[in-house]
Amino acid sequence: MASKDLHFVLIPLMQQGHMIPMVDIARILAHRHATVTIITTPVNANRFRSAIARAIEANLKIQVLELQLSLSEVGLPEGCENFDMIPSFDLFVKMYAAMDMLEQPTENLLRRLTPAPSCIISDNQFPWTTDLAQRLGIPRLVFHGPGCFTFLCLHIVMNTNILNEVESDSDYFIIPGITDRIQVTKAQASSWGKRETKEMVDFFQRMEVAEEAADGIVVNSFEELEPNYVEELSKAKKKKVWCIGPVSLHNRSFLDLAERGNKAGIDEHDCLKWLDTKEQGSVIFVCLGSMSSITTEQMFEIGLGLELSKVSFIWCIRNTTEESERWLSEGYEERVKGRGLIIRGWAPQVLILSHIAVGGFVTHCGWNSTLEGVSAGIPMITWPQFADQFLNERFIVDVLKVGVSVNIEVGEKDKLVKKENIKLCVEMVMEKEREGEVRRKRAREFGEMAKRAMEEGGSSHVNMTLMIQDVIHQLLAKNTKVI
Ligand code: UDP
Repeated sequence: MASKDLHFVLIPLMQQGHMIPMVDIARILAHRHATVTIITTPVNANRFRSAIARAIEANLKIQVLELQLSLSEVGLPEGCENFDMIPSFDLFVKMYAAMDMLEQPTENLLRRLTPAPSCIISDNQFPWTTDLAQRLGIPRLVFHGPGCFTFLCLHIVMNTNILNEVESDSDYFIIPGITDRIQVTKAQASSWGKRETKEMVDFFQRMEVAEEAADGIVVNSFEELEPNYVEELSKAKKKKVWCIGPVSLHNRSFLDLAERGNKAGIDEHDCLKWLDTKEQGSVIFVCLGSMSSITTEQMFEIGLGLELSKVSFIWCIRNTTEESERWLSEGYEERVKGRGLIIRGWAPQVLILSHIAVGGFVTHCGWNSTLEGVSAGIPMITWPQFADQFLNERFIVDVLKVGVSVNIEVGEKDKLVKKENIKLCVEMVMEKEREGEVRRKRAREFGEMAKRAMEEGGSSHVNMTLMIQDVIHQLLAKNTKVI
């Protein structure tokens, strides 16, 4: 049995930070001659339809099958199929309820597939996929958002008594039992997986049980980036961990880079033309992810800070209001003309980051953005908002030492980061001498390591081979008839 005999079924969470890397993983597997099916909902399928169409045209055995979420049954508006469309965080629980209802329809679909599925790779937020894989007699691998460092930190805080020993949310403590000395507040360590309602507590318990039963863990990272943490995570979880990334580096063609995740709010060619006019390493890119929202007042401070810094920039603004549109058009855009490019909505992030003119990245520290910044080999300004982003920030700043923090705490989302502070951070990160140069050099080295990891014979390439071989062994052990 070889990879061409395998049929992987991928079930991504409906959130950009999970779907985008899963689509990359799907195409990497298909490049290894496996058959791949991605299961998602119509709105989400639409977001990556053209990328999949290109893959099919290139003779990859890949397809997307759509299932409908029962949104009205759980009280969500029709069409609200992605977490980035849900109006408020407290409604997330309804989405989880709708996702749970996909179990039977998914099973019906998988039982009809030819060739028969040989492995499920699913997000850990679909805990029922463990039982489903057992019923089908195939392995299930779990794919989780963060890298090994953050994954391990979360494992430690959730499985030890450490949080109970820390009094208040704002008290700092050192994460026990890991290689680096990492200090975080209780709120930072627990903002991911906040268990505020009974439904969420139950859901997290189910996720943990399902993860324990999984047949391995797939991580979008690479071994050279966090060698100790890959090993420590594998020990802590008592499972094989395959680091197969940075998966974004699988995108090589202009269209794959430009159309990643969603329709961009700018003509991608114009964006590149603009970057072509700038000197190497002179532009800072500002993008705070697919989910985070900032106040209009904060947006003004970012704009003014960038203006004060005198550095060229591309600034992606996810949501504008009437007030902010007025502010942009009545003076700001004119003042920064030629030096600042503003993108409203979705930025072609990986395309921008991979341009030689970009020399710094203001990021909210989502794991994908973190890894995309690392892959680009550039230093970062860290501005975490929620969830695992605070731990990712510690990784960038304390472990990799390629970042400068704006110093925001959990719950301080509405605390204003002032323009002077933003200007200072931009100057520090773009500095070409002293500390700035040391940071830049480290970042460049990680960027080179990332690229090597994804090349043939590189660690992530080898890990993908090992993962495929392991699936074959597991199938043979389960004595399952494949294809
Ligand atoms: N992204 C993008 N354009 C945007 C915003 C986000 O291409 O305007 C991509 C980004 O490259 C990354 C993903 O969306 O691959 C966001 O994932 P991440 O884990 O960084 O953060 P999240 O948005 O899930 O908080």
